[in-house]
Amino acid sequence: MLRVAGLSKSYGHHEVLRDVDLEVETGEVVVVFGRSGSGKSTLLRCISFLEEPTTGTIEVDGISLSGGGHRTKSKRDRIRRLRVSTGMVFQSFNLFPHMTALENIAEAPRVVLKRSQAEAEATARELLEVVGLPDKAAQYPIQLSGGQQQRIAIARALAMNPKVMLFDEPTSALDPELTGEVLAVMRRLSTEMGITMIVVTHEMGFAREVAARMVFVHEGLIIEQGPPAEILANPRRPETRAFLDAVL
Ligand code: ADP
Ligand code: MG
Repeated sequence: MLRVAGLSKSYGHHEVLRDVDLEVETGEVVVVFGRSGSGKSTLLRCISFLEEPTTGTIEVDGISLSGGGHRTKSKRDRIRRLRVSTGMVFQSFNLFPHMTALENIAEAPRVVLKRSQAEAEATARELLEVVGLPDKAAQYPIQLSGGQQQRIAIARALAMNPKVMLFDEPTSALDPELTGEVLAVMRRLSTEMGITMIVVTHEMGFAREVAARMVFVHEGLIIEQGPPAEILANPRRPETRAFLDAVL
């Protein structure tokens, strides 16, 4: 479903990602973890071309894009399609404050996919069910808890029917008692809907139960990856071990 090949990203002389390769199968959940500043957010932003890779190729469901070079019409068109194919959920939920939950979810399908208002709202109501908030359609973000806002943000990303969902520390801005409801929704996306996901998180319980694979990023490199049972119990690299000792 997703292939990242030879991805590097520099800001000026600072090389933030260095020759990263990553493949994710359809329906697979991959947890990415590592120290602050190691390049995890940059990796997700390059995958969705919110940031252009300095070099390397991103391929999502057959749409292939290389970093660098001119923005031809064909490339701009593929960037648009790639962004639709990759749903992003951020740490700070970023809902539109002047729109209700329902309007937040229906907006992009209406504007970008040209769905009719009725169709977009019908889909939005289904997605409110999926994230367990069918009674919050008319609420504004400010009237919702952080956990509820993040679940609306997940529904909003799903409304574009993405091929891959990218989560960037989706629970780290939440009070501890609210993280469980968001992780539960994410788990359902995997187990009940088979959604392909890359999740940057330090919720190791979630990783252990839901992820097929964990990927450790250190100074812009993937230095270790494997099944959660192996990575969590027997990390091979001292950097991975030191990080896990600090968070567990
Ligand atoms: P993480 O998500 O793992 O904490 P990031 O991907 O956000 O790490 O950042 C990796 C490194 O890239 C950091 O040193 C950060 O300062 C740098 N960086 C990220 N975005 C930019 C940017 N737009 N301009 C310059 N440096 C950046
Ligand atoms: Mg980050």
